[in-house]
Amino acid sequence: MLVSTFIQGLGSTGFFGSRAFLPAFITAAAMRYGHHVPLLKDSGMIQGLEGAPTWFTSEWCVLILGLLAGLEIAATKVPEARQLLAEVDKYSKSVMALVTYMGVATASDARFIQDNLMPQAAGLLDFFPAFLIAAAVFWIASVRGAVMGFLSDADEDDDAGVQGLFSWAEDVWALAGPLLLILFPLLMIALIAAAIGIIALIRWRLAVREEKTKTPCPSCGTMRYQAAMACPSCGLKNTAPHAIGALGQGKPYPTTDIDRHPLRLASKKRCPVCATRFDRRDPHQTCAACGHVLFNDPDFVKRYLGYIDRRVPLVVLVSLLFSLVPVVGLIPGVIYYRMTIVAPFRQYVPLHRSFLIKWAIRLLFFVLIAFQWVPGLGGFVVPVMAIVSYVSYRTTFRNSLNPGEPSAAAAA
Ligand SMILES: [Zn+2]
Ligand SMILES: [Zn+2]
Repeated sequence: MLVSTFIQGLGSTGFFGSRAFLPAFITAAAMRYGHHVPLLKDSGMIQGLEGAPTWFTSEWCVLILGLLAGLEIAATKVPEARQLLAEVDKYSKSVMALVTYMGVATASDARFIQDNLMPQAAGLLDFFPAFLIAAAVFWIASVRGAVMGFLSDADEDDDAGVQGLFSWAEDVWALAGPLLLILFPLLMIALIAAAIGIIALIRWRLAVREEKTKTPCPSCGTMRYQAAMACPSCGLKNTAPHAIGALGQGKPYPTTDIDRHPLRLASKKRCPVCATRFDRRDPHQTCAACGHVLFNDPDFVKRYLGYIDRRVPLVVLVSLLFSLVPVVGLIPGVIYYRMTIVAPFRQYVPLHRSFLIKWAIRLLFFVLIAFQWVPGLGGFVVPVMAIVSYVSYRTTFRNSLNPGEPSAAAAA
């Protein structure tokens, strides 16, 4: 049993609470024909299923499930048939959720073990999650039955049309839900990438604008940033350096924390002395304007790590709050933790170093994101993503600071 299959199964309980055959049909059809559909074929669930010979993705199974799904939609539109279905549907829904889960599990396993055709070949432990999911569907379908029973008692012939409307809404939910479950992580990752691109564009615009606010040094006349600690040419101290915004831009007012101002500059990839921007992904680089060698002082490195570390508890808490909001909370949550506790390390990690962790993290996040829209449970997704990214990039940053030899000696 694969973890991603189980997560997919847990997510499916939401749709099987509404319909028995429609979600089963959509899942089987997506697995059978998904590799012909542009977006679907890139998803982790569909990839490699093409040749997997299982009962669940056979043409016969898809056809029968399709017919039953059609009958089901029709039946739920007729009040008499709807009442008849209400008597039995919590059983049919649980059974179909179980069958679908076993179908997905065997098809996914078949990718790795081509001869494991039937679920009977699986161990007893493999059945446990399937029964857990069936029990969850039974419970959800029972709650739904109680609500629908109340509606149908209040308006037996559905004169108000509420039950009919509800029925169509459930059809859409049961049809789009399983597809969303497969596509959701892809869609979210694309949206996060778009948001990061927009932020990079804004940051660049702000940097261009800041060039025009440079003022001449009172001692030597060199143009310097208002956020600088000192003049890049003569080293004259700036008594009131300007604050730095979240996007690394200089603010029009002085900083209130001059002690940690150099740390804040470094966290935004700017020289801790003259505020000039660094352009390489390397912890050891020399400022083009003032010649300051970044992270060369072990004491500064220690203070820098502590400066970022202190943010972690608050960031985890805020991430949790974002993550508790299904779907909508994911993107601001991810952007927030990236900017506060990941970027300060990530921006200095050479690309070839971050390549492997990047892909390992992506794979994990893909599975986690598939879970985020589940109300309540989704709350842990962004905090886990935040902690995993923070720990891996902090470690890579520290390792690339000391690649074998003490760098302080080399610079001296
Ligand atoms: Zn000067
Ligand atoms: Zn500098």
